[in-house]
Amino acid sequence: MNWIWWVLIAFWTGGFAWAADTVRTALRTRHKRKLQLLEAAREERLAVEAANKPPEPVCGCTHHLAKHDKQGRCHERVEVPTTWDENKKPLRYEAGRCNCQQYVGPQPLAQVFAEELTDRM
Ligand SMILES: [Zn+2]
Ligand SMILES: [Zn+2]
Repeated sequence: MNWIWWVLIAFWTGGFAWAADTVRTALRTRHKRKLQLLEAAREERLAVEAANKPPEPVCGCTHHLAKHDKQGRCHERVEVPTTWDENKKPLRYEAGRCNCQQYVGPQPLAQVFAEELTDRM
């Protein structure tokens, strides 16, 4: 066989391997992109769900507003530390009541600002 054939065969196989590698890389990249798109779509859906959900009526004391009476006093049971160790870490707890007084003042967003009318004529 002529030596040129060996050169050609080497070229073909090398070229084929390169082509196969390129296709494989492209497929892998596309697969990764698809996964990324799926992940993005999932995150978007979660964000939309979170946005559509009404805000939890939770008081500043972290207890649900349903635990508060009409006067705003919280009735949730809490653990009150009674003894501490030398590192100020509570050792024993006693059952107590949350002494939160729910804020019942004016809502800042409910305020209406009446702008003064200016005469520009
Ligand atoms: Zn509260
Ligand atoms: Zn509370």
